[in-house]
This record gives sequence, structure tokens and C-alpha cells, in this order.
Amino acid sequence: MNEVLDMLYISGCDVFPKEPMKYHTSIKIGGKVTALVYPNTIESFKNAVNILRKYEKPFKIKGMGTNLLVSDDNLSFFVLSTERLTGIDVSGEVITTESGVPLKRLIEIAAKNSLSGMEELFGIPGSVGGAVFMNAGAYGREIKDVLLWAEVFDGEKVEKLSAKELGLEYRGSNVGDRIILRAAFEFKKSYKDRIIFHMKEILKKRLDKQPIYEWSAGSLFKRPKPDFYVGSTLEKLGFKGYKVGCVKISEKHAGFMINEGCGTFEDAMKLIEIVKSKVRENYNVELEPEVVIWR
Ligand SMILES: Cc1cc2nc3c(=O)[nH]c(=O)nc-3n(C[C@H](O)[C@H](O)[C@H](O)COP(=O)(O)OP(=O)(O)OC[C@H]3O[C@@H](n4cnc5c(N)ncnc54)[C@H](O)[C@@H]3O)c2cc1C
Repeated sequence: MNEVLDMLYISGCDVFPKEPMKYHTSIKIGGKVTALVYPNTIESFKNAVNILRKYEKPFKIKGMGTNLLVSDDNLSFFVLSTERLTGIDVSGEVITTESGVPLKRLIEIAAKNSLSGMEELFGIPGSVGGAVFMNAGAYGREIKDVLLWAEVFDGEKVEKLSAKELGLEYRGSNVGDRIILRAAFEFKKSYKDRIIFHMKEILKKRLDKQPIYEWSAGSLFKRPKPDFYVGSTLEKLGFKGYKVGCVKISEKHAGFMINEGCGTFEDAMKLIEIVKSKVRENYNVELEPEVVIWR
């Protein structure tokens, strides 16, 4: 094992063996992984992937951990974080970023350059890579509406793919085990003041409706059909404030699951099952978690 850690370290990564994932996810749940690895450049990221593949070590990719629910067990896989990949380039109406750039920073830089197109997404926590992988969206706008291309690495080759080729759809894509290294977004010139005003409006809406300062992983479930709103459905079913152990459905927005502090993966999974079964019973609808579950 030390040989693999050494190889990763020598290839330009910072390596943290047995790192608890609860310190790296917004819901603050998650056990120790084999090692949390931070490649410092795109090149070292590719090297790290090659090393782990060569030694047949399983690994997963993490952006900012805002959509992850991770088991409390000791987990026998590596995690490669994109958080050190923060390069950004503005060229005319196109902004190209490395995948670890926070989405919020990308939209702020767009605004500074009087570029409009992603204001509705302002306030979604997480990285550009995570946003492309999930086709993140809010207030009628999704990543697929503005993505020009993403550069994807499959362990052998790097390909530049369009939103269509990446299969971006409501909170999903066909990226699978591949890694998003960079992405380019197309904007339109507009008035800076108008863009900033719009961004602030969006943040106010989020603050009013969402439990922004609590420990969550965002919306717990995907909308199963366009006119089926999970938050209001769970509210009608009386789930606001419903608790299993230290994990509960938010009182502010029933679409969010909150860790009150001592929440466990087991609490969270139990709560998910209880909600799913009640919705199935009452509406004959099968809910699918939007959060990505690692175990
Ligand atoms: C308070 C709150 C509000 C939220 N509001 C919204 C919202 O309005 N709309 C919305 O869509 N989401 C929302 N989310 C969910 C989340 O912020 C988004 O899904 C975000 O895009 C995830 O990015 P991340 O970097 O944190 O990804 P992670 O949580 O780190 O990863 C999520 C998935 O993406 C994969 N992944 C990440 N980076 C890469 C990469 N470079 N290459 C390949 N795979 C990768 C991971 O393997 C994992 O499967 C919210 C979350 C919170 C906590």
C-alpha cells in the first residue's frame, strides 16, 4: 500500500491516508477512505488516475462534496479531489475553467466581465466538475443550457464533449467513471449592474427558502416527474421536522435532509427508506435519491 501512496506523492499529489469523509462533505457524514488525494495540477490528476489503475486500486472522484452521502464504515477506496484544479480563463464570451473551480466563483468572474447566462445557478454550492456531472440547475436554468464542452478523461484519452454527448439531463449525465478535467461555458455580453442585481435576487430567494447554513447535501430526491414537487409533497405528508436519530427533514424546506450534528449514515438511509415508502404508499411514485451515495 505504501508503494501506491509514495507513487501518488511523487507524481505531484498531496496524500492523506485514512481521512474521514465527514470532514469533506457538506452533510458532515462519512467514514475513513483509504486515502484522500489532492492532485495539484491536471497532469498530476491524470498521473494519479494512471497509478491507481495500474495498481488496480478502486477510486472515486470528489468535487466539493456538496451532493455526497458517504457510509460511516472504513471504505476501501481512494478519493481523488478536484479541489486544487482551479485554473480559469476568460476569452470573449467564453469562460474555460478547470473542474475544481467553485461554481459560485465562475459566476462571479462572469459578472465581473459583464457576462450573463448563469445567474440563476448562483448560490449552488459545489465545483464546476460536480455541476457538470450532476447537470446542476436552479430557477429554470441548467448547466446543459450554457456548457460549450467539457474535457473528459477516461484513463486513456482526453475527449472534448458537448452537453449532448455527455448526456446531460435532469440531475444526471452519462459521465459515469470518467473524469471531467475542464469545462467551457458560453455567455452573452450584458450590463454588469443588471447581472449583479439578478445574482443577488437569486441568493435572496435561496436564503428565504433553503436551509443554507445547516448541514445538508442539497435536495434529497430527484423530482420523479416535472409536475411532482418533492418538497411540497413531503410537507403535505407531515415530514417537516421528522427525525431518525440525529438526521431530520428540514423544517424550512422538506426537500432537504439535515444532519443535526451527530447524524449517521444509518440514520440517513433509514430516513430515506421511510420517506420513499410513504410516498410510494400515498402516490404510487418511486422516489430516487438525488444525493450520490458512496458505500
Ligand atoms: C445547500 C445546498 C443547496 C443546493 N442547491 C442545489 C441546486 O439548487 N441545484 C442543484 O442542482 N444542486 C444543488 N445542490 C447540490 C450540489 O451542490 C450540486 O449537485 C453540485 O453541483 C455538486 O458539486 P460538488 O463539486 O460538490 O460535487 P460532489 O458532491 O463532490 O460530487 C457529486 C458527484 O459528482 C461527481 N464528480 C464531481 N466532480 C467530478 C469530476 N470533475 N469528474 C467526474 N465526476 C465528478 C462525484 O463523483 C459524485 O458522483 C445543493 C447542495 C446544497 C448543500
